Amino acid sequence: IKYNTASFVTSAPDITKLPADTGIEVAFAGRSNAGKSSALNALTDQKLARTSKTPGRTQLINTFELADVDDMRLIDLPGYGFAKVPIEMKKKWQKSLGEYLQKRQSLKGIVILMDIRHPLKDLDRDLINWAIGSEIPVLALLTKADKLKQGARKAQVLQVRRELSTLDGDITVHAFSSLKGTGLPEVAKKLDEWFLG
Ligand code: GDP
Repeated sequence: IKYNTASFVTSAPDITKLPADTGIEVAFAGRSNAGKSSALNALTDQKLARTSKTPGRTQLINTFELADVDDMRLIDLPGYGFAKVPIEMKKKWQKSLGEYLQKRQSLKGIVILMDIRHPLKDLDRDLINWAIGSEIPVLALLTKADKLKQGARKAQVLQVRRELSTLDGDITVHAFSSLKGTGLPEVAKKLDEWFLG
């Protein structure tokens, strides 16, 4: 699939406003500042998602469609875990995310982005557990891999793989760097698998 054919479709304030639940979609999620926008931009080779210096601001679900193939979408979920977001908003986010994972028929995989220097925070674990509970395959990307030396990077990938292997789900873990392009072929391969079956 040519991911550079992706184009913006719509921003939805909640899951009820998403495009019709047909075809196949893959969602991207992660803590604010994890590098989600940068990863989407690297994958699509475009400035699709806004990289923001004020994390936690975007609470919209952005939808991009792939022109290359019929009825296939990338979904950019709101970043989570930003300290300054009011508790009510956090609760609302958790509820709608839980609903999305459970009810969305077209959702065939979720990419979870975590900073390689501090992965598997509580909300990351919650999300991974919800995905597994809903039988959604997970691609965990350890972002900003360029921030670590090779040895530390490899050790971190192995550690996260080891931890997640205790969960009974379909989980793949890769190091990723938008800056260096590390992990991009692996992401494209996994997405192709999800989209094309
Ligand atoms: P988002 O909030 O998850 O969408 O994160 P962004 O993509 O906006 O990135 C957050 C910050 O991390 C920005 O300052 C980016 O420049 C930086 N960043 C993102 N990806 C990388 C990467 O691969 N390497 C490095 N060194 N920095 C990155």
